Amino acid sequence: MGGLVVVVGSANADLVVPVDRRPGPGETVLGGDTRVLPGGKGANTAVAAARLGAPVRFVGAVGSDQFGDLVLASLTGAGVDVTGVRRAERPTGVAYIAVTPDGENSIIVSPGANADVRPEDVRLDGAAALVASLEVPVPVVEHAVLAAERAGVRAVVNLSPVAILSERVLAVLDPLVVNEHEAAGLGNLLALGVRSAVVTRGALGADVVTAEGTTTVPAPKVEVVDTTGAGDAFTGALAVALANGDQLVDAVRSAVKVAALSVTLPGAQPSYPTQERMNRSAN
Ligand code: ATP
Repeated sequence: MGGLVVVVGSANADLVVPVDRRPGPGETVLGGDTRVLPGGKGANTAVAAARLGAPVRFVGAVGSDQFGDLVLASLTGAGVDVTGVRRAERPTGVAYIAVTPDGENSIIVSPGANADVRPEDVRLDGAAALVASLEVPVPVVEHAVLAAERAGVRAVVNLSPVAILSERVLAVLDPLVVNEHEAAGLGNLLALGVRSAVVTRGALGADVVTAEGTTTVPAPKVEVVDTTGAGDAFTGALAVALANGDQLVDAVRSAVKVAALSVTLPGAQPSYPTQERMNRSAN
């Protein structure tokens, strides 16, 4: 068993409804049947890491409602420690996702309980790596990163959605993870003061950016079924490898393999490979 990964982030119920087209202002359109799926960047990342066999603790908040039960069941089903998850006096976060036939998504996110995660919820005892994303309040992420620095825990932040972090916090990140759209809006990533950065580039793989230069790690070629949650699979796998002491480029090599397998199955959490599926695909 490897080092403990602590994930700080969001947990949502994804309500996915197929529609022929988006409604205009004041308009009603009929959709197909709704699917209710566990999601949220934080919960996805935690499930991805736990499927690989790592010990994982999730820090987040859900409501005292059925969606909260759904999200927690998925986390515990993957083996994630949810003892630190707050049951907030607000509804569980919900993402309303309308999918048109071209595969394009229109999404409304209601953060609900995710807005109620608090700095004091973060517990890093025993952790080898922290991974945080920004669908929870910025002060929680900043607190977690600075606590990680004090405890000598490796800090990974997926800056999604993009938020402004203090220079003090940015200086700890090793790496900052962004996709290429987020990277384009941020300019020179090392100029932000981070120790390292990783830019995910979809089917092209990922770039590792350090003071020594940029290394491109190509993605394996796979039959793409659904890329939903690929970025979270990547971040979860990256954190597992770093918690096990891998060098950054090696950790990214392992993350692109995990993320590539995740796009060959539908959905986010259901598509995340176990270590056994990883081993089989390598043979
Ligand atoms: P999402 O929002 O869908 O979770 P993202 O925009 O955060 O994704 P991407 O860069 O699209 O992030 O994908 C993350 C990683 O997933 C990539 O770095 C790559 O390793 C893997 N990946 C994504 N799409 C493909 C693909 N078509 N083939 C192989 N690997 C892929």
